[in-house]
Amino acid sequence: MLQVKDLVKIYKPKKGVPVRALDHVNLSFPQTGMIFLLGKSGSGKSTLLNILGGLDRYNSGDILIQGKSTQKFNQSHFDSYRNTYVGFIFQEYNILDEFSVGANIALALQLQGQKADSQKVNTILKTVDLDGYGNRKPNELSGGQKQRVAIARALVKNPKIIMADEPTGALDSATGRQVLTTLKKLSQDKLVIVVSHDREFAEQYADRIIELSDGRVIRDVEKQEIDSDAENTVPVYLEDSVSLPEYYTLTEQDQKAIADYIQNMVSVGKTPKFSLFGKGAVAFQPTNTGRIAMSQEGYKLIKSRLPMKYAFKLGASGLKYKKFRLVMTILLSCIALIMFGLADTVASYDYVTTAHSSLMDPANKITYASYEKQEEMGYGDYSYFENVPLTREDLKELKERTGLDSYPVYAGREYGNDLHSNLGDSEYFSSYVSSLGGFIETDEKLLRRMDAELICGALPRPGTNDIAISELVFSAFQDQGYRAYESNETQNIRKPQDMIGKTLRISDVDFVVCGIVDTGMDMSRYEKYLEDQESAMLSNDFSDMLVSMFFQQELRYSMNYSLTGLGMIAPGTGKRLVQSELQSKQIFLKGDSFHYSDYSAEVLQTEFDPGCVTWLDNIPRTELKDNEIILTHQMVMDYFSGEIPSRWVDNTPEPIYEDDYYDPYTDGFEAYDYSNLRGMTLTLSLFNNNGYYNGREQLDTFLETTLTVVGISTQADYTQIYISPSALESAGEPTVCQTLAPMPTESREVMTLVEVSAEEFHKNGTTYQYNLMNPISFELKTLDELFEVLQQVFFWIGLVFVIFASLLFSNFIAVSISYKKQQIGILRAIGSRSNDVFRIFFAESFCIAMINFAISLAGTFGICQLINSSLKNESGLMLTILNVGIRQILLLFFVCLAVAAVASFLPVMKIASKKPIDAIRDR
Ligand code: ADP
Ligand code: MG
Repeated sequence: MLQVKDLVKIYKPKKGVPVRALDHVNLSFPQTGMIFLLGKSGSGKSTLLNILGGLDRYNSGDILIQGKSTQKFNQSHFDSYRNTYVGFIFQEYNILDEFSVGANIALALQLQGQKADSQKVNTILKTVDLDGYGNRKPNELSGGQKQRVAIARALVKNPKIIMADEPTGALDSATGRQVLTTLKKLSQDKLVIVVSHDREFAEQYADRIIELSDGRVIRDVEKQEIDSDAENTVPVYLEDSVSLPEYYTLTEQDQKAIADYIQNMVSVGKTPKFSLFGKGAVAFQPTNTGRIAMSQEGYKLIKSRLPMKYAFKLGASGLKYKKFRLVMTILLSCIALIMFGLADTVASYDYVTTAHSSLMDPANKITYASYEKQEEMGYGDYSYFENVPLTREDLKELKERTGLDSYPVYAGREYGNDLHSNLGDSEYFSSYVSSLGGFIETDEKLLRRMDAELICGALPRPGTNDIAISELVFSAFQDQGYRAYESNETQNIRKPQDMIGKTLRISDVDFVVCGIVDTGMDMSRYEKYLEDQESAMLSNDFSDMLVSMFFQQELRYSMNYSLTGLGMIAPGTGKRLVQSELQSKQIFLKGDSFHYSDYSAEVLQTEFDPGCVTWLDNIPRTELKDNEIILTHQMVMDYFSGEIPSRWVDNTPEPIYEDDYYDPYTDGFEAYDYSNLRGMTLTLSLFNNNGYYNGREQLDTFLETTLTVVGISTQADYTQIYISPSALESAGEPTVCQTLAPMPTESREVMTLVEVSAEEFHKNGTTYQYNLMNPISFELKTLDELFEVLQQVFFWIGLVFVIFASLLFSNFIAVSISYKKQQIGILRAIGSRSNDVFRIFFAESFCIAMINFAISLAGTFGICQLINSSLKNESGLMLTILNVGIRQILLLFFVCLAVAAVASFLPVMKIASKKPIDAIRDR
C-alpha cells in the first residue's frame, strides 16, 4: 500500500536549532492490518504519521502510494490523495462542536460530493456502535464516543487507510480498548496505522509494531505464527518476560541478553519469567518486508468536490454564531452602503432621468409638451444659444423626432404681446399676468386635446379678430380692471362675463375677447409665494427674495408655455399677426447679385401720403396694386451707392443739378431724375429680425415676391417701403415661436421628448436644439450648476463610504475566519481541498453580501424617495432629483459581491494554502 524510502524530515523552528524528526526511515505498509507506531514522546511518531497522511511534507526521500512516487506532489495532490485513501483520526477528536454528530458525518459525506441522508449517516454510526446518536451535540458525548464519531467520520469515505494519532491518549483504559477494538475490526480490510506510546495496547492489538527512537526505526516486528524450525525464529524479549522458541539454540548474543535480563529483574526485585513457544504459537518476529505484497491496483485519485449547494448550507449555518457581531457588521456596512448608494444617486444625476421622472410625477401636472428652438450663435468660447423661430421645416422635423402632433404658437412674448394697453392701473404689481406668451389658433378639438374647457362666452369665430383668454389672464383684469386703448378710465371687472366683448390691443392688433377658458392650471403652487412676494421684496432677506423671484420666474414658464398664457385666436387668423410682426422684420431687397439690407424698425407700410410720391409713370394714384412698391428716396440712394447690379447701371438716377455740394439725404428728391428707374422690378424678401444673420444666406424668408417700383417717396426720414394691404396680408406666415401639444402619458414617449430636448442637432453648419419648455425645465436649468457641483462632492463622499463599508465587511470576515482556522484545518484533514474550504467561506460571505445588498438597496431606495418627497414638500421644487436606477442596483450588487469576494478571498486563501497540519495546530 505505502512505501517509505529514506524519509527525512527536518523541522526548522524559527528559534532554536533544526530538529531531525525523521532520519532516513525505510518502511513498507501492507494493504490491511493494524500497525502500531510505538515510541517515546518526541521520537517522531506523529511526524511520520502526518507525512504518511499528506498533512505535512517531507524534506527528502520518497513515499510511494500504490507504487506512485509522491516526490512531485503539490499540496492539492496530497489533498486528493488524503481524500481518496486516508481517514484521519486525531487524539483531540477534532470534530466540529457547532454541528451535531449527524451533521459532522453529513458534512464529511458532502465533502465527498455524496448526498447525506439520515439513513446513510445512521449506517455509518452503526459501524462504530453509535446508532441513534445522530442528533446529539458533541459536548454531550464521552471522549470515547467522540473518538468513535471521529472514526465514523473517517469511514464515510470508505478509505483504504485509517490513520490515528494517539486515538486513546485522552481516554481511560476501558474506553481506549473500545476504540481500539473498533479500529481492529476495521483493520480486517483496511490498513490501520495507530500512533501510540502504550506498549501494552500495542502488543495486544497490533499486527505489527514499528518502534521509533530519535526519528529512526529501531524495531519492526510482526505477529507471526511461529515456525520453530525456521532459522529466523528468535526469542522475544518483552519488558518483564522472555519467550524462547522450542529447541532454540541460544546464540552468544542471546546468552548476553538473557544475562542482562535476569540482572535487570533482580535489581528491581522482580522474578525473571521465561516461557517457551512451540509450533503454531503466535509471537512478534522481525517483519518480513519481502512478504509485504504491493497491490497492483495502481494509483487513482478522487478529487473532493463540495457542491455549491452544500457550501451554501455550510456557509449559511456559520451565520448562526456571533450573531451580535454579524448584526452590527451588517447594520454598519448597510448604512455605509446606503450612503454610497445615495451619493452615487446624486453623483449620477442627469438631466434626462430627472426631467423624465419629474415630468412623469402626476403631482406636477405637466399636461403639455411645448418646444422652443435655440440656435448656437457666435463661435468657440463665445458661443451661446439663442431662441429662433421655428420654420415649417423645423415643425416637420420636430414632429418626426418627437411623434407629437403639435400646434404652432405664433409670435412669442419677445415680440411684445403685453396687455398693458388694457390693464387697469394699479399701485403695485398685483396680478401674475402682464403679457401673453403668444397666439394659438383654437378650436374645440384643441380644447379637448389640451383638457381645457370654455367656461364663458364662445370660441373665436373664423375670419374675425376674436380672442379667447384663460381664466388666469382674466384674473389679471379682475385684479387690475380693464382700460380701453389710450383711455385713462379703468372699468371694474368682476365676473368672466364682464370681459366678453372687450377690445384688447395686443401687438398692434385689436382683438375682441370672445370667451374665457379654464385651462386647468393649478395656481395653488404659486399663490403662497406670490402672496409673500411683496413682503419678500421689501424685507432684506436675500433668500426670501431669491425664492420669490424663483417662483415668479417659474410661473412665467408655467403660463407662457401652456395654453394658459396664450391668446386663443380663430383658426386661420394667425396671418393677421403678420402685419404687426412686420414692424420687427428686416427687409431685404434682392437684386441680381447683392442684398440691400435695411436695419430700420418700422419699414413696411401700407398707408402712404400720395403728395410725397414721385410716380415713375407719372400716373398719380392713392392705392397700390399687389405687385407695386414705393421706395423712398434715401433708400434708392443707398441702393445705388452700393454695388450696382450690371443690368441697373444705366438706371442710376442722375442729379438734376450738377452741384458740387449735394447731399443725397437733405437735398431732397426734387434734385433727382428717377426716370431711369421706370419699369424696375425688385424682389422683396422678409425674414425674421433676430439679429442672427451673421452673414449667413439661409434666412427664414416668409415673403418673397417680385414687385415693380412705381414711385419714390420722401415721406419718411429714413428708409421705408410701401406695399398694398392685400399684398401684405398674403405676404407670409406668422412667426412660430414655440409649439404646444398635450403631454403623452406613456413613460416611453415622455422619455423620447426629453431625449430630443437634451440633444443638439446639426444642419448646414448650424447647431440647434429643441427645448422642452415647462416649469421643470426652468428648475433644471436654474439648478443644473448646483447639481453639477453636488455631483462632484457626492462622488467623493460615495467613494469614502464604499471604502468604509468594504473595510467593515472584510474585518468581519477576517475575524470570522480566524475563529474558524481550526475548522478549516479539520475540513482539510478530512479530505476537502482548499477550493472547497474557499467555497464554504465564500458562501458565508456571499450570504452576508446578499443580505447587505438587499437592505442597502431598499434603504437607498427608501431614503431617495424620502428626500425627493421632502424636497418637493419643503422647498416646493417639482424635480425628482434622486433617481435610483439600474446603475445603482448593479453598483450596490457588485460592490457587495466584490467586497465579499476580496474580503474572504485573502484570509481564506492564506489559511487554505497552509499545510493542513499547520492549520489544525494554529488555533
Ligand atoms: P511524537 O509524536 O513521537 O511525540 P513528534 O513527531 O511530534 O513526536 O516530534 C518529533 C520531533 O520533532 C520532536 O523533537 C519535536 O519536538 C519535533 N517537532 C515536532 N513538530 C515540530 C514542529 N512543528 N516544529 C519543530 N519541531 C517539531
Ligand atoms: Mg505525537
